[in-house]
Amino acid sequence: MSISQLARSISESVTLKLNETAALLREKGEPVIHLGGGEPKSRAPIDAIVSCTAVLNTGEIRYTPPDGIPALKKAIIRYTEEHYRKLVSPDNVIASNGAKQAIMVALYAILEPKDEVVFPAPYWVSYPEMVKLAGGVPVPVTPEDGSFHPRIEEIAEAVGPYTKAIIINSPNNPSGVMYSRDFIAEVVQFCEKKNIWLIMDDTYNRLVFDGKTPVNCYEFVTQPLDSSKLILINCVSKMYAMTGFRIGWAVGNREVIRAMINIQSQQTSGPSAPAQWAAVGALNGVQSSIESLRMTLENNRNVMIERLRAIDGVKVVKPDGTFYCFPDFSAYMRDSNKLANLLLEKVRVVTVPGKEFGMEGHLRLSFCGTVKEITEGIERIQWALDPKAPNELYLGTRKLVRDWL
Ligand code: GLU
Repeated sequence: MSISQLARSISESVTLKLNETAALLREKGEPVIHLGGGEPKSRAPIDAIVSCTAVLNTGEIRYTPPDGIPALKKAIIRYTEEHYRKLVSPDNVIASNGAKQAIMVALYAILEPKDEVVFPAPYWVSYPEMVKLAGGVPVPVTPEDGSFHPRIEEIAEAVGPYTKAIIINSPNNPSGVMYSRDFIAEVVQFCEKKNIWLIMDDTYNRLVFDGKTPVNCYEFVTQPLDSSKLILINCVSKMYAMTGFRIGWAVGNREVIRAMINIQSQQTSGPSAPAQWAAVGALNGVQSSIESLRMTLENNRNVMIERLRAIDGVKVVKPDGTFYCFPDFSAYMRDSNKLANLLLEKVRVVTVPGKEFGMEGHLRLSFCGTVKEITEGIERIQWALDPKAPNELYLGTRKLVRDWL
């Protein structure tokens, strides 16, 4: 079949695929524990629902401007002022179908064919594919010291004459680590010096633990907004548990935002109107749901890390934020696809293979679920891998016998 070479080079989003796999198995009555999911389980804020249903009740759901309704842009401007102490104008803002589309149209707006985009590993699964879709070449940089903290020297080494942009995601999906203030400052300064774009993906920066505060990239920007090549990405998906609404946004200089709007206007038009009104409700409404989610996640993280550390040979870095951790299982199996498949097949635990995030030997485990799911999920993983564990395990009434070790 004549499927384009580009399409053939793009792989399916494994994070989304695994959500489907988990749902299908559950439908069949399988006792699945989904530790692969990238979405909080809490409900969307009531203000989001009220605002969304109010517009639905009018029965008049029309096209919106391609960059979002004025009320949403206003809410984003206020959010940017409150959390980044940065004053921006409507011309500096575009609302998109999730952070995903905001990143995608940004890449379309800045990349020439074969331009390179550098980002640290482990990285979010979609970055390489998005860069390829926009005609660019992904250049992941793996920290040499085996940590999840890249050094600016390593990033600088990967930057060459074809580098057009760097993408930074902190707190990071999948490792959960938050890059240091010094590192963020160095990256901002480096990009300014080299005159390259910096896409700051701040999707998780309201979900930070241990009293830490997220780093505000604008603190280190020396150029006026409309000359700066920093594009800031945010969304309502994670902090308000509104993944299905698909609302994200970008803040940047007016020239790049104009280009992104043109692209989005041809690609999808403005995001769905009810979803935009839901985001307005969330951003302007009572904010307590973020703190309550954050506290739940911090507790879940503690439970998951404690359980993981009890497994012989598993190395895990305690996440500073997000709802993921990225333990190293290479003492048991280096091939992360094989390991994730084994866990799904044998003990019905869904995990995401580290390979998808650019690091073999690891699995991404999500702690969005309940404490019961976390403890039981890790217990099953431990049982599946540890030869010292008793040979039998019950999943409900189903008796499993471990015959693969
Ligand atoms: N960002 C989430 C994840 O990494 C949601 C799925 C996606 O869009 O990749 O699991």
